[in-house]
Amino acid sequence: MTQSPVVAEVDFHAPGKHTGFLRIPHSVDRSAYGWIGVPVVVLNNGTGPTALLMAGNHGDEYEGQIALGRLARELTPGDIRGRIIILSTANVAAAQAGRRVSPLDAGNLNRSFPGDPRGTPTRIIAHYIEETLMPLADYAIDLHSGGQSLFYPATLLRGSGHNDRERASLKAMQDAFDLPYTWVFTSGGGPGSTAPTAMGAANRKGVVSVMAELGGGGAVTPEILHLCERGLRRVLHALDMLPGHAPDTARGSREVNAIGLIHAYETGVLELLKEIGDDVTRDEVVALIHHPDTPWTPATRLRSPSTGMVLCKRAMAQVARGDAVFQIARDVSA
Ligand SMILES: [Zn+2]
Repeated sequence: MTQSPVVAEVDFHAPGKHTGFLRIPHSVDRSAYGWIGVPVVVLNNGTGPTALLMAGNHGDEYEGQIALGRLARELTPGDIRGRIIILSTANVAAAQAGRRVSPLDAGNLNRSFPGDPRGTPTRIIAHYIEETLMPLADYAIDLHSGGQSLFYPATLLRGSGHNDRERASLKAMQDAFDLPYTWVFTSGGGPGSTAPTAMGAANRKGVVSVMAELGGGGAVTPEILHLCERGLRRVLHALDMLPGHAPDTARGSREVNAIGLIHAYETGVLELLKEIGDDVTRDEVVALIHHPDTPWTPATRLRSPSTGMVLCKRAMAQVARGDAVFQIARDVSA
């Protein structure tokens, strides 16, 4: 197998706290022998599990980037047991541009796994995460949001587990993260996963992993940021990696399965008639698409194809054919 061209400035095995860059070679007009730096922080203290904490997988998703940066600054090696690897802006060029995809190669990191060591920068990063970082990890947490186009409430995403140990670990991480919603995937995952996502990479390497969707709309929601920061410390404590932390009382999480998306077929300006958490029934009108360039034309009515509740909504008013407007979910127990 081709070796990764990435040079890590940090030692993943030495005790202590290490900061630096993962150097992704990038030879361009203005820099023939240049590299792109993905910032990385490693905390290492004695025996214990390894947790890989990631954000900025999509560059326009900000809560996780802030939360992991703050965690990286605040934690000292003496606070932890085991090893924590923090990639707070995994696709750094996308994060610097505030975009979902990298401006260098139009690469969507969370559609690029298992990556390619001889590929474009985004594919090299994916390959390094899957082949170098995941094998070091026991647990992985990948923090997302709805990006510019969507808005999610604070939601944990996880598989249902493939054996008793994994099921117990995933439930423990869910309970500890304690976000208002948990989306439990009913299929996929496991070592045979072909998913091009970081969670797929984790599954292929036997790493117990969860994701989170945390707000969106191209902004930072302080309340959701707080839930993220609280959840990260609670999870590390539950994994016995942050022994001195005193978690507050859990509030509980509503477990749902996403059952589908409602897409627009018309171009126009969107008026949402439903909010996150609202119930919808099949054939109910959930949004209007207005046509300001022909104001005498009636607004197009968008109907829900299914009964459930709104988990995620479009954050942008302008909408075009093929854009997702709502994601509909159902309670796991329903
Ligand atoms: Zn994302």
